Amino acid sequence: MQKEIKATQPALIDIEAYIEEIKSIWDTKIMTNNGEKVSKFRQMLKDYTGCSNIDLFVNGHSALMLAIRALELQGEVITSPFTFVSTTNAIVQNGLTPVFGDIDDSYNLAPDSIEKLITDKTCAIITPHIFGIPCNVGEIERIAGKYHLKVIYDGAQAFGTKIRGSSVAKYGDMTMFSFHAIKVFNSIEGGAIVYKDEEFHRLFELYRNFGISYDEKNGNDVEVAGINAKMNEFQAAMGIVNFAEIDSEIVKRKLLAEQYCSCLRDIPGIWTYPYDKDIDYNYSYFPIRITEEYGVSRDELWLKLKERGIGTRKLYDKLTCDYSCYRQAGYERDTEYADKIKKMALDLPIYGTLQEGDVACICETIRSLRRK
Ligand SMILES: *Cc1c(COP(=O)(O)O)cnc(C)c1O
Repeated sequence: MQKEIKATQPALIDIEAYIEEIKSIWDTKIMTNNGEKVSKFRQMLKDYTGCSNIDLFVNGHSALMLAIRALELQGEVITSPFTFVSTTNAIVQNGLTPVFGDIDDSYNLAPDSIEKLITDKTCAIITPHIFGIPCNVGEIERIAGKYHLKVIYDGAQAFGTKIRGSSVAKYGDMTMFSFHAIKVFNSIEGGAIVYKDEEFHRLFELYRNFGISYDEKNGNDVEVAGINAKMNEFQAAMGIVNFAEIDSEIVKRKLLAEQYCSCLRDIPGIWTYPYDKDIDYNYSYFPIRITEEYGVSRDELWLKLKERGIGTRKLYDKLTCDYSCYRQAGYERDTEYADKIKKMALDLPIYGTLQEGDVACICETIRSLRRK
C-alpha cells in the first residue's frame, strides 16, 4: 500500500516560535482573563480583517451562542441544515425555532428558499459560509432588509475568505469565526465574533466572564447571567504565532485546489465547485460531487479510497435536521436539493502540508475507480 493520506491535518507551526511566544506568561503569571496575548491577538485580527469590532472567545460555538443571545432574538430563525451541527445547536440552545431552508450549488442557503419560509414569527437568518464558500450575501442582505430580519453568519469555516477584496465578516450584523485546530487558521481552540455595532463589546465582555462587572465605588456586580467563555493566553499565543503562516497556508491550498480542478475536470461524473474570480476563497475544504455518470456511489468511492489509504470526509452526509434530537422535534423544512447533495458530496484532503504528488495520486485513484 502507498503511504497514507490523511483527510485533514492541523497547521502546526514551528514549536520553537510557540515556546518563545509563551515564555512571557511565566513572567506575567497571567494565563487567562484578558491578558496581553489576547489583546495582541485581537489587534492582529482587527488589522487582518479590516473590521474594528471583534471579541475573542474560548471556541467558535460559544461565540455563536453569545452572538445570538446578544441580539435578543425570539421566534423562528431561517438556517441551512447543510452544516456542522453547531449552527443548529446554537439556535436551539437560545430558545429559538430553526426553520430549515434549502441549499443551492454553493452548498449554502438558497435565497429563494428563504423568502418562502418567512412568517410573522421570523426574526433572523443564521447561516454558515460553508466550506469557506461565501453565501449569496447580496441577496440575503436584501431579503433581511425587506423583512427586518437580523443576520448572523456562522463563518467558522470562512476565516480568510474575501469578497471583492473585503473580509466576509463585513456582511451581516455579526459573523462568528472559529479557530479550532482543523480550521484553516487555529489557536488550538478559539472563536471570535465580528460585529457592526460597537455597543456590543461591553455585553460580550460580561457574557463571557459570568456577567461580572467591577467598578471602584461599588465593587463587584453581576449584571447578566453570563457563562465562562474566555479565550486563554496559550490559545492566543498559538493564534499570534500562526498568523505568520496564514497567507502562505491559503496560497498553498489555492494551488492544490487549482491542481484538483484541472486533474478532475475530464473525469465524467466528478463535479468540482466553479470558483468565482471576485472571491478570494480560503480553500478550507475541497468539496466535490459524485454524480451518476461516475458509475460508483459516493459511499462506495469513500470506502475504496479509504482502503487505498486516502482519507476523505462525507461532508455532510446528514443534514442537521435529520439528527435524532431535531428530527423528533419536527421542525419545518424545505430541503429537497440538500437531500440530494448530502448523498453526493465528498470532501477531498486539502491542507498546507499536502504535497502536489498526493493530489496527483488522489486524482488518478479517483480516475481509475470509475465504473464505465
Ligand atoms: C467548526 C465549526 C463550528 C464550531 O466551532 P468550534 O470552534 O469548534 O466551537 C461551528 N460551525 C461550523 C460550520 C463549523 O465548521
